[in-house]
Amino acid sequence: MATDCLFCRVVSGEVPSEKVIETETVVAFRDINPQAPTHVLVIPKRHVASAAELGEEHADELTEIFRVCNAVAKADGVDASGYRIVTNVGRNAGQSVFHLHFHVLGGRPMTWPPG
Ligand code: 5GP
Ligand code: ZN
Repeated sequence: MATDCLFCRVVSGEVPSEKVIETETVVAFRDINPQAPTHVLVIPKRHVASAAELGEEHADELTEIFRVCNAVAKADGVDASGYRIVTNVGRNAGQSVFHLHFHVLGGRPMTWPPG
């Protein structure tokens, strides 16, 4: 665990969060500054800085992440209306926390492309 990483501290419970789903390898918790009625962050417990760092060794966690994203959408009742799963990589994309996280956004219509 990277002790200076905010989301590693969410995983350990050192930083409080509203957890929605927790599995052996993945945690889903509500974004502190929600941009939609459903705005949940889904992260691997194991520290990875961003999607750019992913390799073969993360295959199982990635499958689990998408399974949990879909379960979050179902639990929040936005599975039928639709939802967006997005991850930002680096500065131009607006990544502000360097522990891989997938945003699950739903509960309102969304525009494309994002700003
Ligand atoms: P990024 O900009 O890196 O794609 O997304 C980081 C997200 O983390 C933002 O949506 C931001 O609101 C959220 N966030 C930042 N700090 C915290 C925190 O301490 N707790 C929670 N639950 N979310 C946070
Ligand atoms: Zn971390």
